[in-house]
Amino acid sequence: MLLKLKQKVVEYGEKIVKEGLVVATWGNLSAREENEDLFVITPSGMNYADLEPEDIVAVDLDGKPVASGRKPSVETPVHAAIYRARPDVKAVIHTHSINASACAASRTEIPCIMEDMSSMVGGPVKVAKYAPTGTRELAENVLEALEDRNAVILANHGVVTVGRCLEEAFKLSLVVEKTAEIFIKSKMLGQVYSLDLSEVCHLKDFYIRCYGQANRE
Ligand SMILES: [Zn+2]
Repeated sequence: MLLKLKQKVVEYGEKIVKEGLVVATWGNLSAREENEDLFVITPSGMNYADLEPEDIVAVDLDGKPVASGRKPSVETPVHAAIYRARPDVKAVIHTHSINASACAASRTEIPCIMEDMSSMVGGPVKVAKYAPTGTRELAENVLEALEDRNAVILANHGVVTVGRCLEEAFKLSLVVEKTAEIFIKSKMLGQVYSLDLSEVCHLKDFYIRCYGQANRE
């Protein structure tokens, strides 16, 4: 089973590069094994195009490798903290996509301005306080800003999305990036209107119920 999950991580690594969400070796992604305290994550500092399933690293929920092999991503503590805190999460994708990174640089949360993003994220994309890459402090700051939503901005760094499978976390990466672009452009036009909290709750509930009928990985 781990091999299948590792293959999926390689596949979605190619997708985030193809969609321009990351460049070179930046960003990282992981997927949790069903009913196990294990997840598999991209290795540190390797090009996505060169990745083979055997390069993907299996680690426990403390982020420690469970077998010999590549060194896991430097952001493994963030992934591990999310899996420990959120049993509903089975995949985590971290990118440096341009418009979400602009929000990260200005430390500005993305409000619930579009219905697709609101339904999938379940609220605004908040900004986690800055801490250096790879630190426990960053992992704690990410959890604090993420709460029960499915995306979070990392101040002066990038964005993290989470989902019930890699496909969902990947879609969230695209939707958050698109919404960040719309947010920046709509601010140029003037007033930006956010959806009411009650409408966001309704959209989230509808999305979760409908998504449950789709094919899951
Ligand atoms: Zn990063």
